[in-house]
Amino acid sequence: MKAAVLHAPRDLRVEATREPSVRSGEVLVRVRAAGVCGTDYRIWSGERPVRYPLVMGHEFIGEAAAVGEGVTRIRPGERLAIEPNYSCGVCDLCREGQSNLCLRRTAIGIDVAGGFAELAAVPERCCWPAPDAIAEEQLLLVEPLAVVVRAVGRGAPRSGESAAVLGVGTLGLLALQVLRARGCRVLVLSRSERRLALARELGAEAAAPLGADAGVGAARAFAGRDGVDLLVETAGTPEAVEVALGLARPGGRVVLTGLPHAPSSVNFFRVVRRELQILGSMIYQREFGEALDLLAEGRVRTAPLITHRFPLEAIADALETHRRPEAIKVAVFP
Ligand SMILES: [Zn+2]
Ligand SMILES: [Zn+2]
Repeated sequence: MKAAVLHAPRDLRVEATREPSVRSGEVLVRVRAAGVCGTDYRIWSGERPVRYPLVMGHEFIGEAAAVGEGVTRIRPGERLAIEPNYSCGVCDLCREGQSNLCLRRTAIGIDVAGGFAELAAVPERCCWPAPDAIAEEQLLLVEPLAVVVRAVGRGAPRSGESAAVLGVGTLGLLALQVLRARGCRVLVLSRSERRLALARELGAEAAAPLGADAGVGAARAFAGRDGVDLLVETAGTPEAVEVALGLARPGGRVVLTGLPHAPSSVNFFRVVRRELQILGSMIYQREFGEALDLLAEGRVRTAPLITHRFPLEAIADALETHRRPEAIKVAVFP
């Protein structure tokens, strides 16, 4: 089969490899499409070390080509969304239900071979049969959508509340829609005018540039008080964390779901003085099903988010394109 194999940083070759063998409890997935995200880029560039060779790709969908011994829930031919993280199941965190925090968690496409290939073997519990109502390109966004469903849930939104989203990449544009589905009024803040227009198209009541006051004026005007009830940060930069804390009202909640890799200088005086709640949100626990429901009900639109499409052979171009300002979600088709 064809697979994109990363042999070393920036040494990614599309080559003929052996088909993965399906062990007991596993499903062999014929990959239909795979999304590129920042994590793939960091692995490819060498910023995030992995064990080489590696087939990357953790946001993928496909259909069951074969099932291993003991697989009962999935049948060959079934259309699948892949949940690319599985935990050890036996540690304290797993037993407490916090599987997303498991220290022995395995990430498909990062720790083991993933979806930038024609075929991938994955544990049965990572396979979610996809309702027919969900088109292929909607289904492709289910993994980042599950991340966002959890992030929004961590902020415990109440209907009628004011919310702001910081960052308008894939996660931000999905967060906006999940917050709307939860009944919040949503302000989107970004430095990119083009993205603000898209945010409005996707249902944001307001979309404003992050001006010299880092969005404080826009947040106050939108909320009609000293900041929004709930802030969801998806940008993952050290500056975004600082900006986020300036936008929530006293007693407000700030959910951080981007991964800032560098430290930031945060003014904690404001956190105490305003009793802000800062909540981290890490991937998902049980949110995949909810993400599929939102897609099936048509409450989240994904088509405008997929901006570029490449065949697997052009995966290097796909990774380079991911960093271009006009790219939101880049998709690869094996
Ligand atoms: Zn990702
Ligand atoms: Zn565990």
